[in-house]
Amino acid sequence: MNTEIINKADKVIAKTYKRFPIVIESGKACILRDTQGREYIDFVAGVAVCCLGHTHPRIAEAISKQANILFHVSNLFYTIPQVELASLLVEKSFADRVFFCNSGAEANEAAIKLARKYFKDKGQEGRYGIIAMEKSFHGRTMATLSATGQDKIRKGFEPVLEGFDFVQFSDTEGLRRRIGPSTCAVLVEPIQGEGGVRCPDPGYLEAVRQICNDTGTLLIFDEIQTGIGRTGKLFAYEHFGVEPDIMTLAKALGNGLPIGAMLAKEEVASAFGPGSHGSTFGGTPIVTAAALEVLKTLEEEKIIDHCKEMGAYFKERLLWLKNRHKDIEDVRGFGLILGMKLKKEGQPVVSRCMEKGFLINCIQGNILRFIPPLIIKKHEIDSLVTCLDEIL
Ligand SMILES: *Cc1c(COP(=O)(O)O)cnc(C)c1O
Repeated sequence: MNTEIINKADKVIAKTYKRFPIVIESGKACILRDTQGREYIDFVAGVAVCCLGHTHPRIAEAISKQANILFHVSNLFYTIPQVELASLLVEKSFADRVFFCNSGAEANEAAIKLARKYFKDKGQEGRYGIIAMEKSFHGRTMATLSATGQDKIRKGFEPVLEGFDFVQFSDTEGLRRRIGPSTCAVLVEPIQGEGGVRCPDPGYLEAVRQICNDTGTLLIFDEIQTGIGRTGKLFAYEHFGVEPDIMTLAKALGNGLPIGAMLAKEEVASAFGPGSHGSTFGGTPIVTAAALEVLKTLEEEKIIDHCKEMGAYFKERLLWLKNRHKDIEDVRGFGLILGMKLKKEGQPVVSRCMEKGFLINCIQGNILRFIPPLIIKKHEIDSLVTCLDEIL
């Protein structure tokens, strides 16, 4: 069954991913099962997507209930789940308005377009530059790869879009020097996810906010990976006491259903009027009904508190490993976005873990990333730590 499917896939699916040689058939909470009946504890969660784990009964119920009411009508009309989801996001964040789309890249596209439009509307025609960070990741569309500070993502697709510039993450002075009269926005992930779970230096995001205030530049937080509870707060910016002008979300918002969102303060959001931007599927009823239930479940079942507690415990266990193995260089992260930097290649460790029934992920060659469902249990963390202890 496995090889049959894999051979078939290799003939017909675009070769854009290097996949593990397993076919996942089903999942429940933090456990995935492949077509050969093997089980894995999932510390990847569909790349920080399945915050409530797999096939969560409340989300499954919300989807199937909505499926019997209405799938889709486009944004020519109002629909109830979309309005309710937007209201809840506004209530729980700094923002006043929400634009819905279908992915992280699209949310960042919307943010980039909004920032440019905001200054055009003010008559500042030449103010379209975006400053992003080295080692950032903002997506794979032309605009978002242009905003991504990693050569490997841009390579082969040049020329990239004009108006994107990069500075080192956590380099306050570099940012201050780089902002000029043509800069419209600074785009930053509060914690760099794909770049290696890189956390900001103390005071950095506060300084970025101040620099943006001083220069009248918009601040965009890409919380596509850090948002929706992952760091132990609903949004990562809450850790730092600063608010952006625009924020993008996707990944965990739909717990596996494709949804992206761009949130902004009224003054900025009002630069988008009828016809400025759009998406056929954006905020469609089934997906927004699921996302609404995700937010309600996180709150009612106190999942974010659990994430904070498990994150602290997990980090302590990883630090314990670091004390025992000289191949471990660094342990970092907030809540349940944790990284462990090795002094050697990470991929062989990932493969060994998979053989032993644990799915983890390696980024930037030597950084193991742990982004499990936020409902992960202590004993599941313990069993991974034991496995890593043996492998290392
Ligand atoms: C995953 C990710 C994106 C891109 O999201 P897609 O849904 O894959 O387009 C953008 N920014 C960050 C920080 C991400 O982690």
